[in-house]
Amino acid sequence: MNKQCAYCGDVGIVTRDHVPPKSIFPKPRPANLITVPACPKCHSQQTSRDDEYFRNTLNVREDLSQHPGVLKVQPVVLRSFYNPNKSGMLGEFLKSIRLIQQLTPAGIIVKNKLGFEADMVRIRRVVQRIVIGLFYHHRQTEFRSTMTCFFSTKRAFKHCLPII
Ligand SMILES: [Zn+2]
Repeated sequence: MNKQCAYCGDVGIVTRDHVPPKSIFPKPRPANLITVPACPKCHSQQTSRDDEYFRNTLNVREDLSQHPGVLKVQPVVLRSFYNPNKSGMLGEFLKSIRLIQQLTPAGIIVKNKLGFEADMVRIRRVVQRIVIGLFYHHRQTEFRSTMTCFFSTKRAFKHCLPII
């Protein structure tokens, strides 16, 4: 199928890419997940690995550990970590474990504990694809390089960081 890629704008052979990645949804997945056209360069094995990393990283966050959706996906994450064909995934995660400082919202150190350091470059790539894909889905046009998108790590816009 020749169509415009939602991510890079190239016209050519495309496949359907789920936005956000379908792997973050527990099974049975909703029937109405959003898909956008994506060229082989923008929907590759690397993007699938990034999506898997994104799901796994969300899943091991302490503050989300009891969320019902996270609990439903946990068996999939554990299979991903122990899949011999994906041995790098567990190794990457184990290498990222560090002694970290737990801070209060005011930034006061309350204790040291074990945590992991997320690869924010990979997380950012997935978030960018989600934003661009959703933009394409809703506007039916590509996200132009002259546009800027911000996301917030807090609820207030004063903490917004540019992602694209
Ligand atoms: Zn593309």
